[in-house]
Amino acid sequence: MVSCMNRALMWFRADLRIRDNTALSAAAEWADDGLVGVFVICPGQWKQHDWAAVKVDFILRTLRELSTSLAKVGVPLVIVEAEKFRDVPRALAGVAKEWGCSGLFFNREYEVNEARRDELVVEDLTASGVDCFAFDDQCVLAPGTVRTGEGRAFTVFTPFRNAWSKKVEESGGIKVGRTLRTQTTHPKPAAARGDAGPALGTSRFTTKVPERVAGFEASVDPGLWPAGERAAEKRLETFVDQRIGRYKTDREFPGVDGTSTLSPYLAVGAISPRQCLKAAVEWNKGKLSGGNPGADQWIAELIWREFYRHVLVAFPRVCTGRAFKSETDRIQWRYDEREFAAWCEGRTGYPIVDAAMRCLNATGWMHNRLRMVAARFLTKDLLIDWRWGEKYFMQRLVDGDFASNNGGWQWSASTGTDAAPYFRIFNPLSQSRKCDPEGFFIRKWVPELAGVSGDEVHDPSELPPLVRAGVRYPEKMVDHGEARERVMSAFAAIRG
Ligand SMILES: Cc1cc2nc3c(=O)[nH]c(=O)nc-3n(C[C@H](O)[C@H](O)[C@H](O)COP(=O)(O)OP(=O)(O)OC[C@H]3O[C@@H](n4cnc5c(N)ncnc54)[C@H](O)[C@@H]3O)c2cc1C
Repeated sequence: MVSCMNRALMWFRADLRIRDNTALSAAAEWADDGLVGVFVICPGQWKQHDWAAVKVDFILRTLRELSTSLAKVGVPLVIVEAEKFRDVPRALAGVAKEWGCSGLFFNREYEVNEARRDELVVEDLTASGVDCFAFDDQCVLAPGTVRTGEGRAFTVFTPFRNAWSKKVEESGGIKVGRTLRTQTTHPKPAAARGDAGPALGTSRFTTKVPERVAGFEASVDPGLWPAGERAAEKRLETFVDQRIGRYKTDREFPGVDGTSTLSPYLAVGAISPRQCLKAAVEWNKGKLSGGNPGADQWIAELIWREFYRHVLVAFPRVCTGRAFKSETDRIQWRYDEREFAAWCEGRTGYPIVDAAMRCLNATGWMHNRLRMVAARFLTKDLLIDWRWGEKYFMQRLVDGDFASNNGGWQWSASTGTDAAPYFRIFNPLSQSRKCDPEGFFIRKWVPELAGVSGDEVHDPSELPPLVRAGVRYPEKMVDHGEARERVMSAFAAIRG
Protein backbone atom coordinates (compact mmCIF):
# COMPACT_ATOMS: atom_id res chain seq x y z
CA MET A 1 0.00 0.00 0.00
CA VAL A 2 1.30 3.47 -0.87
CA SER A 3 1.07 5.87 2.03
CA CYS A 4 0.74 9.63 1.84
CA MET A 5 -0.37 11.29 5.06
CA ASN A 6 -2.79 8.52 5.80
CA ARG A 7 -4.69 8.46 9.05
CA ALA A 8 -6.39 5.13 9.78
CA LEU A 9 -9.61 4.42 11.63
CA MET A 10 -9.61 0.94 13.17
CA TRP A 11 -13.16 -0.28 13.76
CA PHE A 12 -13.07 -2.72 16.69
CA ARG A 13 -15.89 -5.26 16.96
CA ALA A 14 -15.30 -8.84 18.17
CA ASP A 15 -11.52 -8.31 18.29
CA LEU A 16 -10.95 -6.22 21.43
CA ARG A 17 -7.18 -6.61 21.71
CA ILE A 18 -3.97 -5.03 20.48
CA ARG A 19 -1.96 -8.24 20.15
CA ASP A 20 -2.30 -10.47 17.06
CA ASN A 21 -5.07 -8.34 15.57
CA THR A 22 -4.86 -8.59 11.77
CA ALA A 23 -6.74 -5.41 10.81
CA LEU A 24 -5.08 -3.38 13.56
CA SER A 25 -1.59 -4.40 12.42
CA ALA A 26 -2.46 -3.54 8.82
CA ALA A 27 -3.90 -0.18 9.89
CA ALA A 28 -0.76 0.67 11.86
CA GLU A 29 1.41 -0.18 8.89
CA TRP A 30 -0.71 1.84 6.46
CA ALA A 31 -1.07 4.92 8.63
CA ASP A 32 1.74 7.45 8.57
CA ASP A 33 -0.35 10.17 10.19
CA GLY A 34 -1.73 8.33 13.17
CA LEU A 35 -4.23 5.69 14.10
CA VAL A 36 -7.63 6.12 15.76
CA GLY A 37 -9.74 3.31 17.20
CA VAL A 38 -13.52 3.32 17.20
CA PHE A 39 -16.18 1.12 18.78
CA VAL A 40 -19.87 1.44 17.90
CA ILE A 41 -22.37 0.80 20.67
CA CYS A 42 -25.45 -0.51 18.90
CA PRO A 43 -28.18 -1.34 21.44
CA GLY A 44 -30.92 -1.95 18.85
CA GLN A 45 -28.80 -4.49 17.02
CA TRP A 46 -27.65 -6.10 20.27
CA LYS A 47 -31.26 -6.54 21.40
CA GLN A 48 -32.24 -7.93 18.03
CA HIS A 49 -29.42 -10.45 18.34
CA ASP A 50 -30.32 -11.33 21.93
CA TRP A 51 -27.03 -10.27 23.45
CA ALA A 52 -26.99 -10.96 27.16
CA ALA A 53 -26.59 -8.11 29.64
CA VAL A 54 -23.63 -10.00 31.12
CA LYS A 55 -21.96 -10.08 27.71
CA VAL A 56 -22.53 -6.36 27.16
CA ASP A 57 -21.08 -5.62 30.61
CA PHE A 58 -18.08 -7.81 29.77
CA ILE A 59 -17.58 -5.95 26.49
CA LEU A 60 -17.69 -2.55 28.22
CA ARG A 61 -15.14 -3.68 30.79
CA THR A 62 -12.97 -5.14 28.02
CA LEU A 63 -13.23 -1.85 26.12
CA ARG A 64 -11.94 0.03 29.17
CA GLU A 65 -8.88 -2.21 29.24
CA LEU A 66 -8.44 -1.83 25.50
CA SER A 67 -8.74 1.93 25.74
CA THR A 68 -5.97 2.01 28.36
CA SER A 69 -3.69 -0.23 26.27
CA LEU A 70 -4.29 1.87 23.17
CA ALA A 71 -3.68 5.12 25.04
CA LYS A 72 -0.27 3.79 26.13
CA VAL A 73 0.78 3.50 22.48
CA GLY A 74 -0.72 6.85 21.46
CA VAL A 75 -4.03 5.67 19.97
CA PRO A 76 -7.34 7.20 21.11
CA LEU A 77 -10.41 4.92 21.27
CA VAL A 78 -13.55 6.76 20.23
CA ILE A 79 -16.92 5.46 21.37
CA VAL A 80 -19.96 6.28 19.28
CA GLU A 81 -23.55 5.12 19.55
CA ALA A 82 -25.79 4.01 16.68
CA GLU A 83 -29.18 2.63 17.58
CA LYS A 84 -29.58 0.23 14.64
CA PHE A 85 -27.55 -1.43 11.89
CA ARG A 86 -28.54 1.13 9.31
CA ASP A 87 -27.19 3.97 11.50
CA VAL A 88 -23.70 2.49 11.68
CA PRO A 89 -22.34 3.83 8.34
CA ARG A 90 -23.33 7.40 9.26
CA ALA A 91 -21.78 7.08 12.72
CA LEU A 92 -18.50 5.79 11.30
CA ALA A 93 -18.43 8.40 8.55
CA GLY A 94 -18.90 11.06 11.25
CA VAL A 95 -15.96 9.75 13.27
CA ALA A 96 -13.76 9.47 10.17
CA LYS A 97 -14.55 13.08 9.28
CA GLU A 98 -14.06 14.49 12.75
CA TRP A 99 -10.75 12.70 13.21
CA GLY A 100 -9.53 13.24 9.65
CA CYS A 101 -9.22 9.54 8.78
CA SER A 102 -8.92 8.47 5.17
CA GLY A 103 -8.89 4.70 5.67
CA LEU A 104 -11.21 2.34 7.59
CA PHE A 105 -9.85 -1.02 8.77
CA PHE A 106 -11.84 -3.89 10.26
CA ASN A 107 -11.83 -7.66 10.73
CA ARG A 108 -14.73 -9.47 9.04
CA GLU A 109 -17.74 -10.75 10.94
CA TYR A 110 -19.41 -13.60 9.08
CA GLU A 111 -23.04 -13.61 10.23
CA VAL A 112 -25.51 -12.56 7.53
CA ASN A 113 -26.66 -9.30 9.18
CA GLU A 114 -23.17 -8.27 10.17
CA ALA A 115 -21.84 -8.96 6.68
CA ARG A 116 -24.69 -6.88 5.18
CA ARG A 117 -23.95 -4.02 7.59
CA ASP A 118 -20.30 -4.11 6.57
CA GLU A 119 -21.26 -3.90 2.90
CA LEU A 120 -23.30 -0.78 3.63
CA VAL A 121 -20.43 0.73 5.60
CA VAL A 122 -17.98 0.08 2.76
CA GLU A 123 -20.41 1.57 0.20
CA ASP A 124 -21.05 4.72 2.24
CA LEU A 125 -17.51 5.37 3.37
CA THR A 126 -16.00 4.70 -0.01
CA ALA A 127 -18.49 7.17 -1.50
CA SER A 128 -17.35 9.78 1.01
CA GLY A 129 -13.68 9.27 0.12
CA VAL A 130 -12.61 6.85 2.86
CA ASP A 131 -10.84 3.70 1.62
CA CYS A 132 -12.02 0.52 3.34
CA PHE A 133 -9.89 -2.55 4.12
CA ALA A 134 -11.41 -5.79 5.49
CA PHE A 135 -9.46 -8.75 6.91
CA ASP A 136 -10.05 -12.34 8.03
CA ASP A 137 -9.03 -12.70 11.64
CA GLN A 138 -11.64 -14.72 13.57
CA CYS A 139 -10.34 -18.10 12.39
CA VAL A 140 -6.90 -19.52 11.77
CA LEU A 141 -8.07 -20.43 8.25
CA ALA A 142 -10.64 -18.09 6.74
CA PRO A 143 -14.12 -19.53 6.08
CA GLY A 144 -14.30 -20.83 2.54
CA THR A 145 -10.64 -21.84 2.38
CA VAL A 146 -11.00 -25.41 3.71
CA ARG A 147 -12.77 -27.56 1.11
CA THR A 148 -13.29 -31.17 0.12
CA GLY A 149 -11.43 -32.69 -2.84
CA GLU A 150 -14.45 -31.72 -4.99
CA GLY A 151 -14.25 -28.12 -3.79
CA ARG A 152 -17.29 -28.32 -1.53
CA ALA A 153 -17.68 -27.08 2.04
CA PHE A 154 -17.35 -29.76 4.71
CA THR A 155 -20.56 -30.73 6.48
CA VAL A 156 -18.99 -33.14 8.98
CA PHE A 157 -16.44 -32.27 11.65
CA THR A 158 -13.82 -35.07 11.46
CA PRO A 159 -12.92 -34.69 7.75
CA PHE A 160 -12.96 -30.90 8.25
CA ARG A 161 -10.52 -31.27 11.14
CA ASN A 162 -8.20 -33.47 9.05
CA ALA A 163 -8.23 -31.09 6.09
CA TRP A 164 -7.85 -28.06 8.39
CA SER A 165 -4.85 -29.62 10.17
CA LYS A 166 -3.18 -30.59 6.91
CA LYS A 167 -3.57 -27.08 5.56
CA VAL A 168 -2.24 -25.47 8.74
CA GLU A 169 0.76 -27.80 8.76
CA GLU A 170 1.48 -27.15 5.08
CA SER A 171 1.38 -23.41 5.71
CA GLY A 172 4.07 -23.70 8.39
CA GLY A 173 1.91 -24.02 11.54
CA ILE A 174 0.13 -21.50 13.74
CA LYS A 175 1.50 -17.97 13.50
CA VAL A 176 0.72 -15.25 16.00
CA GLY A 177 0.96 -11.59 14.98
CA ARG A 178 2.76 -8.93 16.99
CA THR A 179 1.36 -6.49 19.49
CA LEU A 180 0.65 -2.91 18.39
CA ARG A 181 3.76 -0.75 18.51
CA THR A 182 3.87 2.78 19.89
CA GLN A 183 2.62 5.32 17.36
CA THR A 184 4.60 8.44 16.69
CA THR A 185 1.59 10.59 15.78
CA HIS A 186 -1.00 11.26 18.45
CA PRO A 187 -4.20 12.11 16.57
CA LYS A 188 -6.63 14.77 17.78
CA PRO A 189 -10.23 15.37 16.71
CA ALA A 190 -10.95 18.12 14.18
CA ALA A 191 -11.86 20.86 16.68
CA ALA A 192 -8.71 20.30 18.69
CA ARG A 193 -6.68 20.61 15.48
CA GLY A 194 -8.33 23.95 14.74
CA ASP A 195 -10.46 22.60 11.86
CA ALA A 196 -14.21 22.91 11.61
CA GLY A 197 -16.26 20.45 13.66
CA PRO A 198 -17.43 20.04 17.22
CA ALA A 199 -14.94 19.88 20.09
CA LEU A 200 -14.65 16.50 21.73
CA GLY A 201 -16.45 17.51 24.92
CA THR A 202 -19.46 18.74 22.99
CA SER A 203 -19.42 16.21 20.18
CA ARG A 204 -21.49 13.07 19.70
CA PHE A 205 -18.30 11.12 20.19
CA THR A 206 -16.45 10.43 23.37
CA THR A 207 -13.36 8.56 24.42
CA LYS A 208 -14.97 7.56 27.71
CA VAL A 209 -16.38 4.04 27.79
CA PRO A 210 -19.81 4.16 29.46
CA GLU A 211 -20.41 2.29 32.71
CA ARG A 212 -23.54 0.67 31.28
CA VAL A 213 -25.82 0.63 28.27
CA ALA A 214 -29.55 1.14 28.99
CA GLY A 215 -31.51 -2.07 28.57
CA PHE A 216 -28.52 -4.28 29.45
CA GLU A 217 -28.36 -4.24 33.25
CA ALA A 218 -26.21 -7.20 34.30
CA SER A 219 -26.73 -9.02 37.58
CA VAL A 220 -23.74 -11.38 37.34
CA ASP A 221 -20.75 -10.72 39.62
CA PRO A 222 -18.14 -9.02 37.34
CA GLY A 223 -15.40 -10.61 39.48
CA LEU A 224 -16.21 -13.93 37.80
CA TRP A 225 -15.03 -12.58 34.46
CA PRO A 226 -12.07 -10.20 34.88
CA ALA A 227 -11.86 -8.30 31.62
CA GLY A 228 -9.14 -7.57 29.11
CA GLU A 229 -6.30 -8.98 27.16
CA ARG A 230 -4.01 -9.52 30.13
CA ALA A 231 -6.70 -11.43 32.02
CA ALA A 232 -7.28 -13.62 28.95
CA GLU A 233 -3.58 -14.31 28.45
CA LYS A 234 -3.19 -15.17 32.13
CA ARG A 235 -6.13 -17.59 31.91
CA LEU A 236 -4.55 -19.25 28.88
CA GLU A 237 -1.16 -19.53 30.58
CA THR A 238 -2.62 -21.06 33.74
CA PHE A 239 -4.73 -23.54 31.79
CA VAL A 240 -1.83 -24.68 29.61
CA ASP A 241 0.63 -24.86 32.54
CA GLN A 242 -1.67 -26.64 34.94
CA ARG A 243 -4.63 -28.35 33.29
CA ILE A 244 -4.25 -29.05 29.58
CA GLY A 245 -2.59 -32.44 30.18
CA ARG A 246 -5.65 -33.69 32.08
CA TYR A 247 -8.22 -31.98 29.86
CA LYS A 248 -9.44 -35.11 28.07
CA THR A 249 -10.72 -36.67 31.29
CA ASP A 250 -11.44 -33.60 33.41
CA ARG A 251 -13.58 -31.93 30.75
CA GLU A 252 -16.27 -34.53 31.34
CA PHE A 253 -16.97 -33.31 34.88
CA PRO A 254 -18.69 -29.95 35.43
CA GLY A 255 -17.78 -30.08 39.13
CA VAL A 256 -14.05 -30.07 38.24
CA ASP A 257 -12.21 -26.97 37.08
CA GLY A 258 -11.10 -28.88 34.00
CA THR A 259 -11.68 -26.58 31.02
CA SER A 260 -10.09 -23.26 30.11
CA THR A 261 -13.15 -20.96 30.54
CA LEU A 262 -11.66 -18.89 27.72
CA SER A 263 -14.89 -18.81 25.70
CA PRO A 264 -15.99 -15.28 26.78
CA TYR A 265 -12.54 -13.94 25.87
CA LEU A 266 -12.59 -15.64 22.47
CA ALA A 267 -16.15 -14.40 21.87
CA VAL A 268 -15.21 -10.73 22.33
CA GLY A 269 -11.76 -11.21 20.86
CA ALA A 270 -9.75 -10.34 23.97
CA ILE A 271 -7.61 -13.27 22.82
CA SER A 272 -7.23 -14.81 19.36
CA PRO A 273 -7.65 -18.48 18.43
CA ARG A 274 -4.08 -18.35 17.10
CA GLN A 275 -2.73 -17.37 20.53
CA CYS A 276 -4.65 -20.26 22.12
CA LEU A 277 -3.63 -22.80 19.51
CA LYS A 278 0.01 -21.72 19.50
CA ALA A 279 0.27 -22.14 23.27
CA ALA A 280 -1.38 -25.57 23.09
CA VAL A 281 0.70 -26.78 20.15
CA GLU A 282 3.96 -25.65 21.77
CA TRP A 283 3.01 -27.51 24.94
CA ASN A 284 2.10 -30.51 22.75
CA LYS A 285 5.67 -30.64 21.34
CA GLY A 286 4.66 -28.98 18.09
CA LYS A 287 1.77 -31.36 17.34
CA LEU A 288 -1.80 -30.52 16.35
CA SER A 289 -2.73 -34.14 17.07
CA GLY A 290 -1.01 -37.39 17.99
CA GLY A 291 0.59 -35.88 21.10
CA ASN A 292 -0.76 -35.63 24.63
CA PRO A 293 -4.45 -36.71 24.64
CA GLY A 294 -5.49 -33.66 26.70
CA ALA A 295 -3.78 -31.16 24.42
CA ASP A 296 -4.99 -33.02 21.29
CA GLN A 297 -8.55 -32.80 22.58
CA TRP A 298 -8.33 -29.11 23.48
CA ILE A 299 -6.93 -28.31 20.04
CA ALA A 300 -9.85 -30.26 18.53
CA GLU A 301 -12.33 -28.11 20.49
CA LEU A 302 -10.79 -24.96 19.04
CA ILE A 303 -11.16 -26.53 15.60
CA TRP A 304 -14.88 -27.09 16.39
CA ARG A 305 -15.09 -23.34 16.87
CA GLU A 306 -13.55 -22.83 13.42
CA PHE A 307 -15.82 -25.50 11.89
CA TYR A 308 -19.03 -23.77 12.96
CA ARG A 309 -17.83 -20.48 11.47
CA HIS A 310 -17.04 -22.20 8.19
CA VAL A 311 -20.49 -23.84 8.27
CA LEU A 312 -22.31 -20.56 8.72
CA VAL A 313 -20.53 -18.96 5.78
CA ALA A 314 -21.13 -22.00 3.52
CA PHE A 315 -24.75 -22.46 4.67
CA PRO A 316 -26.03 -18.97 5.53
CA ARG A 317 -29.54 -20.36 6.04
CA VAL A 318 -28.46 -21.26 9.58
CA CYS A 319 -28.26 -17.50 10.25
CA THR A 320 -31.91 -17.08 9.37
CA GLY A 321 -33.42 -19.49 11.87
CA ARG A 322 -33.43 -22.45 9.53
CA ALA A 323 -32.16 -25.95 10.18
CA PHE A 324 -28.84 -27.11 8.77
CA LYS A 325 -30.57 -30.37 7.75
CA SER A 326 -33.42 -28.81 5.82
CA GLU A 327 -35.76 -31.79 6.14
CA THR A 328 -35.81 -31.33 9.93
CA ASP A 329 -37.57 -27.98 9.46
CA ARG A 330 -40.72 -30.12 9.09
CA ILE A 331 -40.54 -31.45 12.67
CA GLN A 332 -43.63 -30.63 14.70
CA TRP A 333 -41.93 -28.97 17.65
CA ARG A 334 -43.93 -28.02 20.72
CA TYR A 335 -44.30 -24.43 21.92
CA ASP A 336 -45.40 -24.87 25.54
CA GLU A 337 -44.53 -21.66 27.36
CA ARG A 338 -45.13 -23.07 30.82
CA GLU A 339 -42.75 -25.98 30.28
CA PHE A 340 -40.22 -23.69 28.63
CA ALA A 341 -40.30 -21.36 31.65
CA ALA A 342 -39.67 -24.32 33.97
CA TRP A 343 -36.62 -25.28 31.90
CA CYS A 344 -35.31 -21.68 31.83
CA GLU A 345 -35.67 -21.31 35.58
CA GLY A 346 -34.27 -24.74 36.51
CA ARG A 347 -37.54 -26.32 37.76
CA THR A 348 -37.77 -29.41 35.56
CA GLY A 349 -37.47 -31.97 38.38
CA TYR A 350 -34.26 -33.32 36.79
CA PRO A 351 -31.51 -32.11 39.15
CA ILE A 352 -28.67 -32.07 36.62
CA VAL A 353 -30.72 -30.00 34.15
CA ASP A 354 -31.87 -27.64 36.89
CA ALA A 355 -28.35 -27.24 38.29
CA ALA A 356 -27.08 -26.44 34.79
CA MET A 357 -29.77 -23.82 34.12
CA ARG A 358 -29.38 -22.17 37.51
CA CYS A 359 -25.61 -22.01 37.02
CA LEU A 360 -26.16 -20.34 33.63
CA ASN A 361 -28.62 -17.82 35.10
CA ALA A 362 -26.26 -16.94 37.96
CA THR A 363 -22.89 -16.88 36.20
CA GLY A 364 -23.54 -16.39 32.48
CA TRP A 365 -21.65 -19.57 31.69
CA MET A 366 -22.36 -23.29 31.46
CA HIS A 367 -20.03 -26.27 31.09
CA ASN A 368 -20.04 -27.85 27.60
CA ARG A 369 -21.34 -31.25 28.80
CA LEU A 370 -24.23 -29.51 30.55
CA ARG A 371 -25.00 -27.35 27.51
CA MET A 372 -25.54 -30.64 25.67
CA VAL A 373 -27.59 -32.16 28.51
CA ALA A 374 -29.79 -29.06 28.88
CA ALA A 375 -30.22 -28.63 25.11
CA ARG A 376 -31.08 -32.30 24.59
CA PHE A 377 -33.55 -32.17 27.46
CA LEU A 378 -35.36 -29.18 25.95
CA THR A 379 -35.41 -30.51 22.40
CA LYS A 380 -35.79 -34.26 22.99
CA ASP A 381 -37.52 -34.67 26.37
CA LEU A 382 -39.79 -31.62 26.01
CA LEU A 383 -39.77 -31.58 22.18
CA ILE A 384 -39.58 -27.79 22.32
CA ASP A 385 -38.18 -25.97 19.29
CA TRP A 386 -34.38 -25.65 19.50
CA ARG A 387 -34.71 -22.00 18.39
CA TRP A 388 -36.28 -21.13 21.75
CA GLY A 389 -33.36 -22.66 23.58
CA GLU A 390 -30.80 -21.08 21.26
CA LYS A 391 -32.33 -17.66 21.90
CA TYR A 392 -32.49 -18.16 25.67
CA PHE A 393 -28.84 -19.21 25.80
CA MET A 394 -27.81 -16.11 23.83
CA GLN A 395 -29.80 -13.95 26.25
CA ARG A 396 -27.87 -15.42 29.19
CA LEU A 397 -24.37 -16.35 28.03
CA VAL A 398 -21.33 -14.18 28.67
CA ASP A 399 -19.69 -16.11 25.80
CA GLY A 400 -22.75 -15.90 23.51
CA ASP A 401 -21.40 -16.52 20.03
CA PHE A 402 -23.80 -17.05 17.16
CA ALA A 403 -21.85 -19.71 15.25
CA SER A 404 -20.98 -21.90 18.25
CA ASN A 405 -24.37 -21.48 19.88
CA ASN A 406 -26.32 -22.24 16.74
CA GLY A 407 -23.98 -25.14 15.93
CA GLY A 408 -24.29 -26.55 19.46
CA TRP A 409 -28.07 -26.25 19.49
CA GLN A 410 -28.57 -27.76 16.08
CA TRP A 411 -26.16 -30.58 16.88
CA SER A 412 -28.05 -31.32 20.11
CA ALA A 413 -31.44 -31.13 18.40
CA SER A 414 -30.26 -33.46 15.58
CA THR A 415 -31.03 -30.77 13.00
CA GLY A 416 -27.35 -29.89 12.55
CA THR A 417 -24.02 -31.27 11.46
CA ASP A 418 -24.03 -34.49 13.51
CA ALA A 419 -22.98 -37.26 11.11
CA ALA A 420 -24.66 -40.07 13.09
CA PRO A 421 -27.35 -41.75 10.96
CA TYR A 422 -29.58 -42.06 14.05
CA PHE A 423 -30.37 -39.20 16.39
CA ARG A 424 -28.99 -39.03 19.88
CA ILE A 425 -31.16 -38.89 22.98
CA PHE A 426 -29.46 -38.41 26.35
CA ASN A 427 -30.98 -39.99 29.41
CA PRO A 428 -30.65 -37.06 31.84
CA LEU A 429 -30.36 -39.42 34.81
CA SER A 430 -27.51 -41.51 33.42
CA GLN A 431 -25.78 -38.35 32.19
CA SER A 432 -26.09 -36.99 35.70
CA ARG A 433 -24.55 -40.10 37.26
CA LYS A 434 -21.71 -40.02 34.73
CA CYS A 435 -20.74 -36.36 34.83
CA ASP A 436 -21.45 -35.54 38.47
CA PRO A 437 -21.01 -38.92 40.18
CA GLU A 438 -20.81 -37.54 43.72
CA GLY A 439 -23.54 -34.95 43.11
CA PHE A 440 -21.27 -32.03 44.12
CA PHE A 441 -22.35 -29.86 41.22
CA ILE A 442 -26.04 -30.58 41.81
CA ARG A 443 -25.83 -29.78 45.52
CA LYS A 444 -24.04 -26.52 44.77
CA TRP A 445 -26.72 -25.21 42.40
CA VAL A 446 -29.85 -26.91 43.75
CA PRO A 447 -29.73 -26.11 47.45
CA GLU A 448 -33.04 -27.93 48.04
CA LEU A 449 -31.03 -31.13 47.50
CA ALA A 450 -28.05 -30.11 49.65
CA GLY A 451 -29.06 -32.56 52.36
CA VAL A 452 -29.71 -35.49 50.01
CA SER A 453 -26.86 -37.99 50.03
CA GLY A 454 -26.32 -40.98 47.77
CA ASP A 455 -27.71 -41.75 44.36
CA GLU A 456 -31.07 -40.06 45.06
CA VAL A 457 -29.44 -36.69 44.48
CA HIS A 458 -29.67 -37.54 40.76
CA ASP A 459 -33.27 -38.73 41.02
CA PRO A 460 -35.11 -37.47 44.10
CA SER A 461 -38.21 -39.45 43.06
CA GLU A 462 -36.32 -42.49 44.43
CA LEU A 463 -36.30 -41.06 47.95
CA PRO A 464 -38.56 -42.81 50.47
CA PRO A 465 -41.99 -41.08 50.28
CA LEU A 466 -41.74 -39.48 53.71
CA VAL A 467 -38.28 -38.07 53.05
CA ARG A 468 -39.32 -36.94 49.53
CA ALA A 469 -42.27 -35.08 51.03
CA GLY A 470 -39.84 -33.03 53.13
CA VAL A 471 -37.65 -32.02 50.19
CA ARG A 472 -39.00 -28.90 48.49
CA TYR A 473 -37.94 -29.87 44.99
CA PRO A 474 -40.27 -30.17 41.95
CA GLU A 475 -41.57 -33.49 40.63
CA LYS A 476 -40.20 -34.57 37.23
CA MET A 477 -42.10 -32.59 34.62
CA VAL A 478 -41.91 -35.41 32.09
CA ASP A 479 -41.23 -39.13 32.12
CA HIS A 480 -38.06 -39.76 30.13
CA GLY A 481 -39.31 -43.05 28.63
CA GLU A 482 -42.53 -41.47 27.34
CA ALA A 483 -40.68 -38.42 26.08
CA ARG A 484 -38.33 -40.69 24.17
CA GLU A 485 -41.23 -42.34 22.34
CA ARG A 486 -42.73 -38.93 21.54
CA VAL A 487 -39.55 -37.49 20.01
CA MET A 488 -38.86 -40.67 18.05
CA SER A 489 -42.35 -40.43 16.51
CA ALA A 490 -41.80 -36.77 15.66
CA PHE A 491 -38.59 -37.61 13.80
CA ALA A 492 -40.12 -40.73 12.19
CA ALA A 493 -42.98 -38.57 10.89
CA ILE A 494 -40.64 -36.42 8.81
CA ARG A 495 -38.91 -39.47 7.39
CA GLY A 496 -42.24 -40.96 6.39
C1 LIG B 1 -26.08 -25.99 23.08
C2 LIG B 1 -24.70 -25.39 23.04
C3 LIG B 1 -24.53 -24.01 22.99
C4 LIG B 1 -23.24 -23.45 22.94
N1 LIG B 1 -23.11 -22.09 22.88
C5 LIG B 1 -21.87 -21.53 22.80
C6 LIG B 1 -21.70 -20.13 22.71
O1 LIG B 1 -22.65 -19.35 22.63
N2 LIG B 1 -20.41 -19.64 22.70
C7 LIG B 1 -19.33 -20.47 22.75
O2 LIG B 1 -18.19 -19.96 22.75
N3 LIG B 1 -19.47 -21.79 22.81
C8 LIG B 1 -20.70 -22.37 22.84
N4 LIG B 1 -20.82 -23.72 22.92
C9 LIG B 1 -19.61 -24.56 22.85
C10 LIG B 1 -18.98 -24.92 24.21
O3 LIG B 1 -19.95 -25.41 25.07
C11 LIG B 1 -18.25 -23.74 24.85
O4 LIG B 1 -17.38 -23.15 23.92
C12 LIG B 1 -17.41 -24.21 26.04
O5 LIG B 1 -18.24 -24.80 27.00
C13 LIG B 1 -16.68 -23.02 26.64
O6 LIG B 1 -15.97 -23.39 27.77
P1 LIG B 1 -14.39 -23.32 27.79
O7 LIG B 1 -13.93 -22.01 27.30
O8 LIG B 1 -13.95 -23.74 29.15
O9 LIG B 1 -14.03 -24.41 26.71
P2 LIG B 1 -12.77 -25.35 26.53
O10 LIG B 1 -13.24 -26.75 26.74
O11 LIG B 1 -11.60 -24.90 27.30
O12 LIG B 1 -12.46 -25.20 24.96
C14 LIG B 1 -11.63 -24.15 24.45
C15 LIG B 1 -12.37 -23.32 23.44
O13 LIG B 1 -12.75 -24.12 22.32
C16 LIG B 1 -14.01 -23.66 21.82
N5 LIG B 1 -14.99 -24.74 21.95
C17 LIG B 1 -15.02 -25.72 22.88
N6 LIG B 1 -16.04 -26.56 22.65
C18 LIG B 1 -16.67 -26.11 21.54
C19 LIG B 1 -17.81 -26.54 20.80
N7 LIG B 1 -18.49 -27.64 21.13
N8 LIG B 1 -18.21 -25.81 19.75
C20 LIG B 1 -17.53 -24.69 19.38
N9 LIG B 1 -16.44 -24.24 20.04
C21 LIG B 1 -16.01 -24.93 21.10
C22 LIG B 1 -14.43 -22.48 22.68
O14 LIG B 1 -14.04 -21.30 22.02
C23 LIG B 1 -13.67 -22.73 23.96
O15 LIG B 1 -13.43 -21.55 24.69
C24 LIG B 1 -22.11 -24.30 22.95
C25 LIG B 1 -22.30 -25.69 23.02
C26 LIG B 1 -23.57 -26.23 23.05
C27 LIG B 1 -23.72 -27.72 23.12
